[in-house]
Amino acid sequence: MEVAERNLQHVHERIARACAACGRPVRSVTLLAVSKTFPAEAVRKMHAAGQRDFGENYVQEGLAKIEALADLRGDLQWHLIGPLQSNKTRPVAEAFDWVHSVDRLKIAERLAAQRPAHLPPLQVCLQVNIDEEASKSGLSLQALPEVAQAVAALPAQSLRLRGLMTIGAPSDDSAARRRTFATLARALAALQAQGLALDTLSMGMSADLEDAVAEGSTLLRVGTALFGGR
Ligand SMILES: *Cc1c(COP(=O)(O)O)cnc(C)c1O
Repeated sequence: MEVAERNLQHVHERIARACAACGRPVRSVTLLAVSKTFPAEAVRKMHAAGQRDFGENYVQEGLAKIEALADLRGDLQWHLIGPLQSNKTRPVAEAFDWVHSVDRLKIAERLAAQRPAHLPPLQVCLQVNIDEEASKSGLSLQALPEVAQAVAALPAQSLRLRGLMTIGAPSDDSAARRRTFATLARALAALQAQGLALDTLSMGMSADLEDAVAEGSTLLRVGTALFGGR
């Protein structure tokens, strides 16, 4: 078996065990393969092994891979998961399917305005900095409700707010990791209670995916466990 296939199978087994442990259907969790720093050919192999959603951190690197893999374009989904500056929104609006890292209304407005009319709406998550780490971008929990309402009100044919994303602070303590994810899940529930039709919790990576599944993650962003160390 190819390494890509073996790694993918192993991650699927971890997800299945995590889902079984908390009584969730496996189908309620989507696996996003984070291919940053790995070449387009590594994505091609992972695609051949059955993987369909891929995440990139850096705009230029992601655009280069999207172009190199143009022959597969109709059969995979590209997600931007890294910081996005307002002067880089246009190529992102033109090339990606999802953006997980929206942390300001202005970025969402630009993405909506720049999304080409012939494409389906850009799928968007708001990034929340739950642990308030200075090194990470993301909205504070306090700022979230107002920004979420404003983003949800942008033209539906251009942009659709799907949910929330967070990066858990590295910790050896599973209970601490779960608290972060539980806080994001509560924030999503609060927005749903305010009438927003959201369905996505983008949380959990190679080291903490079990904790994220236990707290309701619907989209795991996994790099190292699939592609190896960076
Ligand atoms: C790199 C990255 C990941 C994947 O991390 P791994 O620990 O390699 O699984 C997930 N989310 C974001 C935002 C990242 O930058």
